[in-house]
Amino acid sequence: MQVAEKIQSLEHLSQVELVAALDKYLGTERRLLGCFILYLIEFDRRKIFRELGFSSSYQWMTSGLGLSESSAVRRTNAARIMVRFPHLAERIFSEILNGQLSVMVLSMIFAHMNNENCVELIENISGKNRLEVEKFLANRIEGYHAMQSTRAWMRILPGPSKPSGSSEILEPSRASSQHVQNEVVFEAKSNQMPAPVAPATQVPGPAIRLAVTLVGEGARDLLRLRELYPYRDPSQIINDALCMMRKARDLPASRVPKAIQRKIFARDGNQCTFVSDDGRRCSERGRLQIDHILPVAKGGDDRPENLRLLCAAHNQLMAERHFGKDFMRDKIISAKH
Ligand SMILES: [Zn+2]
Repeated sequence: MQVAEKIQSLEHLSQVELVAALDKYLGTERRLLGCFILYLIEFDRRKIFRELGFSSSYQWMTSGLGLSESSAVRRTNAARIMVRFPHLAERIFSEILNGQLSVMVLSMIFAHMNNENCVELIENISGKNRLEVEKFLANRIEGYHAMQSTRAWMRILPGPSKPSGSSEILEPSRASSQHVQNEVVFEAKSNQMPAPVAPATQVPGPAIRLAVTLVGEGARDLLRLRELYPYRDPSQIINDALCMMRKARDLPASRVPKAIQRKIFARDGNQCTFVSDDGRRCSERGRLQIDHILPVAKGGDDRPENLRLLCAAHNQLMAERHFGKDFMRDKIISAKH
């Protein structure tokens, strides 16, 4: 039956029948969404996206399944809440099914949840729509509106192989007027955040453009540091913080010489080189790491032919294939302590 005929055939339905049918289909939609989130949790736990050639579950949902970015973010945040607060999982799942909670409002509270307030937040948003939750959070969370006025997104710019300003990722108006290599820029829609400032120096390496929403203590710290160091732009502050964290962990920047690193980034097109069994190359351009095809521990060296770019997810997958999952899990746990 054609769509037009199908719609016409509904004309004979009574008001009660029509409402009952819509109610039934909405219930089905909610049940399917609830199930999708449960399956997503397991998909993410097993990191299956890596085998399929994606760097994250989010990448897989947007590029692989064709979901919109906002839809993928909401599903991801709802799943993360259920994993992070397992004692609330049962309640959240059943309220998604009966329509008391939507993934949209769950996503709205995700960044504000902690062990102390999680139960209270869920109780207060249950049965509320977006505007009501917005109002509740504005009263409940200090500085909520200021936080909301920045959008969290991250953009990866080309690495050292491309000439400055040639990025196809940048908007044309910005690309023509800025040096875009190796910079970290805040894109803020609020006057609460400092305006983007071009970096004073160009440092070789990958480039990441990011805009983040800092919450609570993190936001206060950045504002305090801005006052303490008025001549340092946000990218320099972030750089310094990252540098301090790396030094605190005593992690080497990389054992591969800078000149060879540049060569590898250029050769591999500043993109993860992992290719899935069905021939899909990972599109990740962020968090790229230089991987030894034959690991150093197994006699591999730093010659370019033994090196390749991998994103963090695929670097870990390769390490697991070489050394086994258990070994890598122990290594990650010991690195955290
Ligand atoms: Zn990858």
